[in-house]
Amino acid sequence: MHPFEYFAAPDEQTTAASRAVAGGAPGALANPARFLAGGTNLIDLIKLNVETPSVLIDISSLALTQITAMPNGGLSIGALVTNMDLANDPTVIKNYPALSQAILMGASAQLRNMATTGGNILQRTRCYYYRDTATPCNKREPGSGCPAIGGYNRILAVLGTSKECIASHPSDMCVPMAALDAVIVTSGPGGGRRIAFTDFHLEPGDHPERENVLEPGEIITAVELPPLPFAATSQYLKVRDRASYAFALASTAAALDISGGLVKEARIALGGVGTKPWRAFEAEKMLIGKAPTRENFRAAAEAEMKPAKGYGDNSFKIELAKRTMVRCLSAVSAAPSAS
Ligand code: SF4
Repeated sequence: MHPFEYFAAPDEQTTAASRAVAGGAPGALANPARFLAGGTNLIDLIKLNVETPSVLIDISSLALTQITAMPNGGLSIGALVTNMDLANDPTVIKNYPALSQAILMGASAQLRNMATTGGNILQRTRCYYYRDTATPCNKREPGSGCPAIGGYNRILAVLGTSKECIASHPSDMCVPMAALDAVIVTSGPGGGRRIAFTDFHLEPGDHPERENVLEPGEIITAVELPPLPFAATSQYLKVRDRASYAFALASTAAALDISGGLVKEARIALGGVGTKPWRAFEAEKMLIGKAPTRENFRAAAEAEMKPAKGYGDNSFKIELAKRTMVRCLSAVSAAPSAS
């Protein structure tokens, strides 16, 4: 076991805890340091020696556990709201059902009771090689290589990949958040920021070790969902190897605003196939002004998946993702109040 210091951040001292991690506060702590909330991902990785922090900053006592209505009609979700509380929130179920559905299709009840909103956004890939310290991995050890390319890669990504890394982002929750224009709110040594959800995660490029735009010492404090009336008929469809407790092979979150028999607006994101929660901007563009037909949904799916690249074991995901999109969009368009 790698030894580490443990530091419990006092109530509501979000920024103080951030500065401590950044090494800029009085009594600065050694790096690398990690924030600890529900621990459902980080503790696993520490046990596997994939993560070896010298300091754990426990932020689980911070006052970030509220879901609150915003004056503009949107919803603010504290970073420490558990996945279970978020999935069962009446406003989420009514106004953003795809989000509730996605969370309930992820992990197990026990994990959802512990896992937090912020932690879910920051969860690490399930790439087998990343989690096995006996193998090289550019994400874990930059420059060491990527055995998944040319190796076993069935669960890995086909969109947003690079020659350095093809790891898929594992979250279900993030998929509707990407689709529904969520905004991530942070606090850090340099002050707070608001970051569009689709700008938060990074494609691997030449630096797969960098997964998001957070700066050292910066933490997620909340996620905001904007008011989006047609999100009330949004849906999440997940295809996986077994009926529960399995990561998505392909998934889709979608919301459509249909008026006069035509699509006025579309919000679509994909899970299981991208190196980040994948907003399907191309598919959305294709659908605007078109009739919500199966043929048009298929054309939109083809456009979105055009840049996809299969690596052998995972090549089946390209067709699977298209079919998942078509089925999800068909279900959304058939919902009574979607048009
Ligand atoms: Fe590591 Fe990424 Fe390659 Fe997996 S796909 S072995 S995470 S570099």
